[in-house]
Amino acid sequence: MTAPAILWFRQDLRLADNPALVAAAKGPVLPVFVLDDAAAGRLAFGGAARWWLHHSLAALGRDLAARGAPLLLLRGDGVSLLADLAERTGAASIEAGWLVEPWPRAQESSLSARLLAGGRRLNLHASTHLLRPDAILSGAGRPYTVYAPFARKVLAGGEPPAPIEPPAPLRGLAPPAPGLPLAALDLLPRPPQSDWAAEFGTAWRPGEAGALERLARFTAGGLPNYPTRRNDPSVEGSSGLSPHLRWGEVSPRQVWHAAREAGGEEAVPFLREILWREFSHHLLWHRPEITQTALRAPFARFPFAPDRNLLAAWHRGRTGYPIVDAGMRQLWRIGWMHNRVRMVASSLLVKHLLQPWQDGFDWFMDTLVDADPANNGASWQWIAGSGTDSSPYFRVFNPIAQGEKFDPEGAYVRRWVPELAPMPSRFVHRPWEAPEEIRRAAGLTEAAYPRPVVGHAEGRARALAALRATARGE
Ligand code: FAD
Repeated sequence: MTAPAILWFRQDLRLADNPALVAAAKGPVLPVFVLDDAAAGRLAFGGAARWWLHHSLAALGRDLAARGAPLLLLRGDGVSLLADLAERTGAASIEAGWLVEPWPRAQESSLSARLLAGGRRLNLHASTHLLRPDAILSGAGRPYTVYAPFARKVLAGGEPPAPIEPPAPLRGLAPPAPGLPLAALDLLPRPPQSDWAAEFGTAWRPGEAGALERLARFTAGGLPNYPTRRNDPSVEGSSGLSPHLRWGEVSPRQVWHAAREAGGEEAVPFLREILWREFSHHLLWHRPEITQTALRAPFARFPFAPDRNLLAAWHRGRTGYPIVDAGMRQLWRIGWMHNRVRMVASSLLVKHLLQPWQDGFDWFMDTLVDADPANNGASWQWIAGSGTDSSPYFRVFNPIAQGEKFDPEGAYVRRWVPELAPMPSRFVHRPWEAPEEIRRAAGLTEAAYPRPVVGHAEGRARALAALRATARGE
């Protein structure tokens, strides 16, 4: 008889295309999830991510119970809890997906050492990525620092392996002691913020079924128009798969093959975004400081001018720039922001407002349902000009022009900033320029909606001066 195994769910909360599950299910299996905030430290899951995790674990728990192997929930020191569980159940191995963040990697090596000492093994599988970040290197044998050659190399390597089916019914292994009820993980927002996530559920359906539904909707409808509609924040022009990918409710291999099947060559612009995710994770693996420290040394001395009032205006969507405020409010209400708007909002914070990108990174980690240290860190560094593959440092997004280009009628702004709904389209992205009678007719007082906290020309000039001085230090 095959020895029992523990199936350690981490960021692969699904049954399909899960090689750890297939390996564990050869014999009796005990699925487990451990919440270990202490190990994660500064990168512990933020509020919106925890909301997602709660609902995703509920869905996974139901799916596993229906297959005969209920999910055990634990909280605390992951390494000790798992090593102890392996010993008490007599499991020969723990099967899990490998991850790229520094703290889960540290967990992997400690747990592996503990298990080996008792004659057991930790077997790690590729369940969250297309490629191992250390398996793809440049011609010179070094990690990639620039996206384009990285993507070329991956695309030239051919298609990723096809997804694998989940095993039929599982043989559940009884835990030595009952686990925690889901509520004891304490993942949902608490008073006084209990209502914060009230609207999340209208936008999202966490869990594997929700992920597959979203993928099917996108491949059936959104994919052909993706190149033209992905930049329009007022429509569902992109896949909306980011939180599902973040939690591994669907694998990148499943997404890749579904897109290829539906779109063939037409799928490539979308697949290139999946490769941005792989690239960001490659960067985090090789440069773990990406979530905290400028990758280009001179940018560590960029003259940011921390100001709590400016940061608060940005958090609350009251910067006076409609496209940015719409994005920040969308983020607060549904835990997600459109990619184009993320770029404009993050650029405004770092450049016009001269606030440290790390503050923006932290806010996104707390409020995004797709909060991902690799994608978030790489994107903030790209915007700030401090990454290895960055937007040219002198690029300062113009928040007015970006709004007018990508939301010409102001549909997105009107939805998320209702104070501006009555404004005529020609002023919806520059309400401070509207004649007084138009502002009055729209009920737009200074108290209802602020003027820009920093004028565009002034903010841009200040940012460019700081950026030039910093770049000269290279
Ligand atoms: P689609 O356009 O449908 O793309 C498909 C998938 O590709 C996404 O789900 C995502 O997994 C991946 N992807 C797309 N764009 C990027 C990118 N630029 N970098 C890395 N992966 C990408 N994405 C996150 O998943 N988590 C984050 O914490 C995050 N923080 C960001 C912070 C800033 C400042 C910026 C500018 C971007 C950030 N992004 C982040 C990238 C991007 O905005 C989101 O992945 C995208 O908006 C998700 O929507 P979608 O699933 O509809 O994307």
